[in-house]
Amino acid sequence: MSEKSFRTVSREETIALGERLGETLRAGDVLVLTGDLGAGKTQLTKGIAAGMGVRGDVTSPTFTIEMVYEGAEMPLCHFDLYRLDDAEQLEDTGIFDVLGADGVCVIEWGEQFADEIGDARVDVFVTRLDDEAEPGEEPPREVRLVAHDVRGEGLLSAL
Ligand code: ADP
Ligand code: MG
Repeated sequence: MSEKSFRTVSREETIALGERLGETLRAGDVLVLTGDLGAGKTQLTKGIAAGMGVRGDVTSPTFTIEMVYEGAEMPLCHFDLYRLDDAEQLEDTGIFDVLGADGVCVIEWGEQFADEIGDARVDVFVTRLDDEAEPGEEPPREVRLVAHDVRGEGLLSAL
């Protein structure tokens, strides 16, 4: 297992980090994004989409659970599993048909299903560093990527 951490001080920097990540992703890659509400998971996903050549706006599919975007070379499947709480519901989303398929999967709130998703994933923890900001100011974010397999390690070292 290997990991890599980044620190961003603005929404724009988080998007730029996502873009670099998006340019590095390959078909079959799976990213599981974990962090509190408002941490920056969707901003990072906007960057990933831009890096993959997706045109148009990316928003969290909180109510639809899944959104598919056409990238320049492959699709981006964006999941938001916030409203799910058991593995049976996960099955119903159709996620297992697209995991590791011909596109990239970005899964918000997927941490609870790490076992079902398996090791062919990179965990991305997005955290507000509240201690590093004055009260009322927007804190910087830590974006920590953790790989669980050889491909994930390769992805991290390419960043
Ligand atoms: P999540 O999907 O994790 O619930 P969002 O990405 O939707 O969170 O929202 C993050 C919010 O925090 C946005 O309103 C964004 O403008 C703001 N923000 C401030 N600083 C940052 C930063 N460094 N990175 C990401 N978002 C930031
Ligand atoms: Mg979100």
